Amino acid sequence: MTLDEIEEIVRRLPREPIGFYPTPFHKAKNISRKYGVDIYLKREDLSGPSAFSGSKIRLAEFVIGEALRDGVTHILTVGAYLSNSAGQLATAAIQAGLTPILFLYDSIGEGYPSSWRANLLLDKILGVETYLFPREPDQPQEKIWKDTLYPAVEKKAAELEALGHKVLFAPAGATHPSSFPAHVLTYKEIMDQSRELNFKPDYIYHTTGTGSVLPAFAAARMLTDDTCAIRSIAINSYRPDNFVNTDIIAERVREIFATVGRAPPPSANEILAEFDIDQRFIGPDYAVPSAEGIAATRELASLDGIFLGPVYTAKGFAGLLSHIHEGRIAPGSKVVFVHTGDTNNLFEDSRITGQLVE
Ligand SMILES: *Cc1c(COP(=O)(O)O)cnc(C)c1O
Repeated sequence: MTLDEIEEIVRRLPREPIGFYPTPFHKAKNISRKYGVDIYLKREDLSGPSAFSGSKIRLAEFVIGEALRDGVTHILTVGAYLSNSAGQLATAAIQAGLTPILFLYDSIGEGYPSSWRANLLLDKILGVETYLFPREPDQPQEKIWKDTLYPAVEKKAAELEALGHKVLFAPAGATHPSSFPAHVLTYKEIMDQSRELNFKPDYIYHTTGTGSVLPAFAAARMLTDDTCAIRSIAINSYRPDNFVNTDIIAERVREIFATVGRAPPPSANEILAEFDIDQRFIGPDYAVPSAEGIAATRELASLDGIFLGPVYTAKGFAGLLSHIHEGRIAPGSKVVFVHTGDTNNLFEDSRITGQLVE
């Protein structure tokens, strides 16, 4: 199958335009020169529409498209209090005239900051109904979903439905099934834009969390038999018992195959063999800063004037730089790093950002 054929099918799915696409694509010249590898940036962080900008806007376009088709009135979603997906989905819902409601937890586990800042401040300015939950001492972050957030969402959804409203629930990272094919379009843009610049990527690097980019890229690559390698740097742990794991992501690949009408889809094992997920750059925990992430943020900013975000893209880019050091990327290779966003979290406090400045 060609990317044009896949795109044609994906473009026929329900979708509400929110972002500004295609997102920009360019070389990070100075850091490329320093490392002897051509590093291109795919700027999903600049998807728009404003400060809540990033890789979740593409998902939101499909989620809102389906919600409008189905007569949904309320969009409920969950995340950490500094969540990018919650804010981006809330923005999209507001634009479409729907009511977003957010259920957020304290990822630090030390209580909420005394004044709102970064993403939570923006949620407040949007005027979004937001429920904040504490993290119990010693409660692992991944347990909060099942123990705290999902029951609260179910209760609220039942209340709204009893009043005659229609609810759509978008799980962590806005990974509602309607959004699974969204980042196939990102992959297509990368291939089109690199061709315009007369090269073909050897590697695509991206930061992986709740698994919306990875299944779409893996599906696009497998459907087109492309030789470009996809390398994922994880910011939360992929284990069989976690709220997101590689089996769940593999299932999403199968669903994308079904959406584009390619049957039978590959087996779970064939898909799992495609994944190349490096879990060494998570740092102490999700949303807890890492020394390599801090160094990567300072380096890309000081060399090319581009900001990364502490929760996701700093750790992802640190993984890319480390792979160059380790020789996992040959000199002269063409590498695309997907900048998925998260720069608002630079305005979080130092428990999230680390010590970025002396
Ligand atoms: C959500 C997010 C990711 C992770 O992407 P997934 O597709 O959910 O795995 C990466 N970077 C940023 C900035 C994000 O907000």
